[in-house]
Amino acid sequence: MIKVEGLYKSFGKLEVLKDINAEINEGEVVVVIGPSGSGKSTFLRCLNLLEEPTSGKIVIGKDEVTSKKFNPQKLRSEVGMVFQHFHLFPHMTVLGNVTYAPLKVKGTTKAEADKLGKELLAKVGLSDKANEFPNRLSGGQKQRVAIARALAMEPNVMLFDEPTSALDPEMVKEVLDVMKSLAKTGMTMMIVTHEMGFAREVADRVIFMDEGMLVEQADPIEFFKAPSTERAQDFLQKVL
Ligand code: ADP
Ligand code: MG
Repeated sequence: MIKVEGLYKSFGKLEVLKDINAEINEGEVVVVIGPSGSGKSTFLRCLNLLEEPTSGKIVIGKDEVTSKKFNPQKLRSEVGMVFQHFHLFPHMTVLGNVTYAPLKVKGTTKAEADKLGKELLAKVGLSDKANEFPNRLSGGQKQRVAIARALAMEPNVMLFDEPTSALDPEMVKEVLDVMKSLAKTGMTMMIVTHEMGFAREVADRVIFMDEGMLVEQADPIEFFKAPSTERAQDFLQKVL
């Protein structure tokens, strides 16, 4: 589903990603962990071209998205992204947020968009909030709306960048539960998170990044039991 070859990204002189190579299979849930500043967000952002890779090749589905011929608009309906800060449109209702992109980008009819939007809100447990405005929601509810909104484009891949890091602790579970049920539907997912319990339970694979490099990829059970690199051992010692 995703293939990354020799990905490099620099911001000016700062080399942030150094020769990242990875493959994510269809239906796989991959959790990306690593110290702050190791390039996790930049990696995810390169995958949907929110950042332009300095060099390297990224293939998503059948498309080489790093090809000059590729139209980045196409990616918006192929890859959904959820951020730490929810980025909801404050002046639109919850349902308005969820239906905005399908209406605008996909040319879906209003009736169809509303129908799908309501289904997705039911999936994330927010049917009763469809006509509410975002400022009336809790952080956990906002993030669930953001997930529904990303799903409304019917993407093949979902990217999550620390989706629970901005939440009060009591709201973390409701968002992780939505992600868990999404994983069970067979969605291909890449998730940057510090929720190690979630990683262990839900991930098919863990990717550990440090200093812009992909240092280790492993089965979560084995990784958390005994990471093979010293850098991952150091990291886990600090966070667990
Ligand atoms: P992580 O998500 O693992 O914390 P990031 O990908 O956000 O790491 O950042 C990796 C490095 O790239 C950091 O040193 C950060 O300061 C730098 N960086 C990220 N985005 C930019 C940017 N737009 N311009 C300049 N430097 C950036
Ligand atoms: Mg980050």
